Amino acid sequence: MAVNDRSTLVAETTTAPAGPAPATSEPLPLPVYTPDFSPELERLRPLTVTPGKALYREVLPGVLTVPVDAVLALSRRSSLWPMTFGLACCAIEMIASFLSDHDLDRLGIVPWPSPRQSDVMIVSGTVTKKMAPAVKLLYEQMPGPKWVISMGACATNGGPYSAYDRVVQGVDKLIPVDVYIPGCPPRPEALIDGFIALQKKIAAEKHA
Ligand code: SF4
Repeated sequence: MAVNDRSTLVAETTTAPAGPAPATSEPLPLPVYTPDFSPELERLRPLTVTPGKALYREVLPGVLTVPVDAVLALSRRSSLWPMTFGLACCAIEMIASFLSDHDLDRLGIVPWPSPRQSDVMIVSGTVTKKMAPAVKLLYEQMPGPKWVISMGACATNGGPYSAYDRVVQGVDKLIPVDVYIPGCPPRPEALIDGFIALQKKIAAEKHA
């Protein structure tokens, strides 16, 4: 056959190709999906709230088996943020306590330079009557719950200045004190001991 034969070419293009005829393209029927909720039925059943029983005990039974008071106390005592302010020579020992030698971070104690987020005030030094309003104001600016450590003899009862009229004879006359640390000045180890005593006190606190 000549390739350039026009009639032959037309005949070839109009003739059906050899082999089986193509199947018609009917869409396959989709399987009907019927969800089976039987394994989930227990979980999907509406919750029955028992009066007098905590909701979390219904929803997650066995997850929290200690009183919330204990969880809050554990959280609070493990993340103390003492405010960084000092009044006299005891403050130098307080600053030394915050250095890497003593690593207060391992106890969850992080010094913080603002009363707005601090929860521990360390009164480290002599509280003069001139400074007393500032100490009280700083305490009032701290959010609750908050605690106070009286560090050294001056803050506790006037120390060497017990005969001086211009010195407050104990910071507990201005604000409530939780822990007293003796010494003039107390060493950093004594302050750490005071923090541990405060943590024990916080762990035993109960809130209504
Ligand atoms: S207790 Fe002693 S070291 Fe501390 S502030 Fe008073 S005088 Fe200074």
